[in-house]
Amino acid sequence: MTESILLIIKPDGMVKGLAGHVLRRFEETDLKLVGARLAKVSHDLAATHYHHLREKPFFEELINFITGKLYAGQDTVLAFAYTGEGAVKRARAIAGATNPEEADYRSIRGSFGRVTTKGVFENVVHVSSDPIEGEREIKLWFHPEEITVPLFPTVEQDGRLAWADPGGPKTRTGPWPEEYK
Ligand code: UDP
Ligand code: MG
Repeated sequence: MTESILLIIKPDGMVKGLAGHVLRRFEETDLKLVGARLAKVSHDLAATHYHHLREKPFFEELINFITGKLYAGQDTVLAFAYTGEGAVKRARAIAGATNPEEADYRSIRGSFGRVTTKGVFENVVHVSSDPIEGEREIKLWFHPEEITVPLFPTVEQDGRLAWADPGGPKTRTGPWPEEYK
């Protein structure tokens, strides 16, 4: 099945100079790169992206991490959209398990990640967990014009393209829902 995923080089990966390494690993696959941007991670974007973890005790620390507060203000990350056969499984194999201590030591997270004393997994990359999350996250991080193939349906809205199906309340299409602020 053709799937699409969002790859993010998180602030720790950016600061440690791992962007080139991560990209190289993905270039070795035949997954198609269809979107790329340097993104500033605001609190809102981070909280929406990680909405499924908002009840977790480490949530605030996770938001601090992904918005760059723990990494000398590294508040920009590189975000990529990839598409291809079995993309989720293949991309997550490259990334490794969520907990760097449990990840295969040859994977990116196993090689370069760490666990902080506050229990946050600083694990270098984000890779979408499943195809539905992949779609939601790509629509959250990219405008339709930034994706080079017709990945998901679009509509014209106020003279520009918008995602036709925003993918539920967790996708940013207008003002931020209060619960994610
Ligand atoms: N995370 C964490 N501690 C946990 C679980 C998750 O710090 O016990 C962080 C970690 O950075 C992870 C992110 O929250 O990558 C998102 O969690 P998820 O369960 O979606 O894992 P992923 O899909 O990133 O492997
Ligand atoms: Mg996940």
